[in-house]
Amino acid sequence: MELVHSGKVRDVYADGDELILVASDRVSVYDVVLPTPIPDKGKILTQLSLWWFERLADIIPNHVVSATDVPREWAGRAIRCRRLTMLPVEWIARGHLAGLGLKEYQKSGTVSGVPLPDGLVEASRLPEPIFTPTTKATEGHDEFITYDDVVREIGDDTAARLKDVTLEIYKRGAALAAERGIIIADTKLEFGRAADGTLVLGDEVLTPDSSRFWPADQWVPGRPQHSLDKQFVRDWSSTLDWDRTPPGPAIPDEVVEATRARYTEVYERLTGTPWTS
Ligand code: ATP
Ligand code: MG
Repeated sequence: MELVHSGKVRDVYADGDELILVASDRVSVYDVVLPTPIPDKGKILTQLSLWWFERLADIIPNHVVSATDVPREWAGRAIRCRRLTMLPVEWIARGHLAGLGLKEYQKSGTVSGVPLPDGLVEASRLPEPIFTPTTKATEGHDEFITYDDVVREIGDDTAARLKDVTLEIYKRGAALAAERGIIIADTKLEFGRAADGTLVLGDEVLTPDSSRFWPADQWVPGRPQHSLDKQFVRDWSSTLDWDRTPPGPAIPDEVVEATRARYTEVYERLTGTPWTS
């Protein structure tokens, strides 16, 4: 099989009209892949995405063809999927203020051009979930764009539909997670077009790499949250004297283990099934 793309986390192979998306155990912070893998991370991302895809399929079709019809050495971490032409937008929904969204609000009072009330602090719950798209940069970091920018890029109908779908997926995911004591603060989705023009949900969905997960019983606005996601690795890396350019620092064993524990916890709490690798 031909390797067509090696991303920060996934290796993408072509098999005829289909792709095999293989999630590795790599972890990236600030777009730099760190040299130390997090055991089981790729499998957890893949299994959790599959779980969500099934629960979101009535909102929009997804790219999954098969989770089992994949080469044996990738079992558990690979998805055979439809090959899409990905849209050049990161489709982000936010229900709480954190990360770059918080930074942007502090600068301008808006995120992606969406005005927000005064007086919000880190981790504040927003009056309602908002759509905050960014560019999908092939080089460098993604930047906030407005809904009108998305319309200009891909047209009115597609922009309107996928904005609605993004918010609907976020709301459903957040409601389901809330029942299990987890806040989904924000999430990033990717959509593409199938050969017949259909809009399809691709990539990964509502995982700890693409979303912020916080235990609801520890949520205190005004400070950084206990995170069950990649933020934990970002926070650790911020304690180092590292300028966020490659090469990234090696991750010490205890941080690897604590990160793995967080990914496992999210999987177990959301799906209600013990993680067995
Ligand atoms: P980059 O590719 O810039 O490194 P990334 O680190 O997020 O970004 P990965 O998640 O490692 O990338 O790789 C997955 C890649 O496959 C992404 O570029 C994503 O847009 C793309 N992709 C996901 N699903 C599909 C699909 N069904 N068809 C085509 N491309 C897809
Ligand atoms: Mg990705």
